[in-house]
Amino acid sequence: MKRKRVDWYKRGKHLQLKKWYVLALMVIALLIGEVAWKLYPHEQKSWSWTVGNQTILIDAGHGGVDPGAVGKNSLEKDITLAVSKRVKVLVQQAGGKTIMVREEDVDLGTAQGLLKRKREDLAQRIQLSKDEQADVYLSIHVNSSPKETLTGPQVFYYADSVESKLLAQCIQEQLNLLAGGKRVAKGNQELFILKKADQAAVMIELGFLSNAQEEQKLNDPNYQQQLAVAVYQGLANYLGTSQNSQP
Ligand SMILES: [Zn+2]
Repeated sequence: MKRKRVDWYKRGKHLQLKKWYVLALMVIALLIGEVAWKLYPHEQKSWSWTVGNQTILIDAGHGGVDPGAVGKNSLEKDITLAVSKRVKVLVQQAGGKTIMVREEDVDLGTAQGLLKRKREDLAQRIQLSKDEQADVYLSIHVNSSPKETLTGPQVFYYADSVESKLLAQCIQEQLNLLAGGKRVAKGNQELFILKKADQAAVMIELGFLSNAQEEQKLNDPNYQQQLAVAVYQGLANYLGTSQNSQP
């Protein structure tokens, strides 16, 4: 009997030690979690699992002989490339695969005549979207208008594609949060590249180069990063919603 009491006492102490051990582990886990939370902004991490295993085709609009929209101090092709490269990094950090239509200041055409070359370039981009079997196609552009007061991001999708519409809405929502705009993702029947794409596809106009203030912002590396994060976040939200809707 005496012995048994001692055993119980020992066991109690052992359990107490175990409790402290578990508590200490929990505190350490919390500390690690807090550091990770600060190092990696939660809005980037919260949906990262949805992007892993996905292949994202990123098309930086224009390039080479084709400058795209021309601002007072900058060209559309340079801004689309800068933001596209940042989106690429974010997707890769989340474990996703990326295919870049271009990573330098080039176009995909070869003909001498500009019009023919542009047509070739467009056909090549469409072909890439078909050959590469990407899950999502992001075409990144910058807007321009004779109306210099217009500002803000605008996302387009092929009007007959339900998935593309959902993707466009998710990205527009994030861009609106960043830019403070109230634009709604727009369905379109004429944008050839969106119509021809086999996967969920959107054209993202990041803002207006024709507005002096927005041109300045679009050329600011900090704003370019914020735009990329918004595009990435919208993409991640879409993939979460899209995957969740499938049993
Ligand atoms: Zn463009």
